[in-house]
Amino acid sequence: MTDNTMAPSGISLAIPLQFNGPQPNHFGAPPATAQAMQSGEFIGDTAQGGSCNAEQVTLNPHCNGTHTETIGHIIEDNNQQFAPYQVIQSPLVKAYVLTVQPTQNYQGSESYTPAISDRDAVICQDMLSGVHNYLQVVKALIIRTLPNDNSKKWRQYGDKWQPPFFTHQAMQWLVNETDIEHLLVDMPSIDKMYDDGMLSNHRLFWQIDQQGRWLKGDQRHKTITEMIYVPDEVVDGLYCLNLQVAAWQLNAVPANPVLLPLTHASTLDLG
Ligand SMILES: [Zn+2]
Repeated sequence: MTDNTMAPSGISLAIPLQFNGPQPNHFGAPPATAQAMQSGEFIGDTAQGGSCNAEQVTLNPHCNGTHTETIGHIIEDNNQQFAPYQVIQSPLVKAYVLTVQPTQNYQGSESYTPAISDRDAVICQDMLSGVHNYLQVVKALIIRTLPNDNSKKWRQYGDKWQPPFFTHQAMQWLVNETDIEHLLVDMPSIDKMYDDGMLSNHRLFWQIDQQGRWLKGDQRHKTITEMIYVPDEVVDGLYCLNLQVAAWQLNAVPANPVLLPLTHASTLDLG
């Protein structure tokens, strides 16, 4: 879809969360639930005679769908300051949508800790550096991995379905060679699923020592958004991104990233 045909309201990259239907899931977390509220005589369900509908929700933002997270995900010190709504500095940023085909059975010289296995598929440095010029003029990078079938919207990520991840060289290149502040991916994590809890790419992105648990430098404005879905009609290229997040005091919250044509924001001073 080109700038000319995109709906003025934009295109959401969120996976709508179906509380009574199939949901994506990471790491075998309990599904998100919504139950009619009950309080005394009141029931929040008009079908059961209640005066209105009101649900009580349980949710794990990291595992139940599209979410944005901050450095608070991996550090110990006072991470309540690092909710996504607090660290996002601009409601609109320039973004680049990039489609990649992760490499299966990788035999090259790039690496990951723990080691890349035969079953893994990886996103390598040259897939990013190939669009180096574009990445110099944006603050957000949106990654769509191939294949891009609809099943990403209800996939159960686990031992049987392990998602691709970045090599350390790819992640380090992004940190060293670009000013990307917001990284959005359609995988449930930028790290290998079974990574012994190291989250080593998350640590590279936020420039935290591999064993460190404390804030170092100033990377608090950067966010990672995981489990997005980029519809096929969105072509690779430059856009304006409105990263909408719930104003919850948590390190990760449900998100609705919305793509707009860059022309809509041409009068704004986009970062
Ligand atoms: Zn996460």
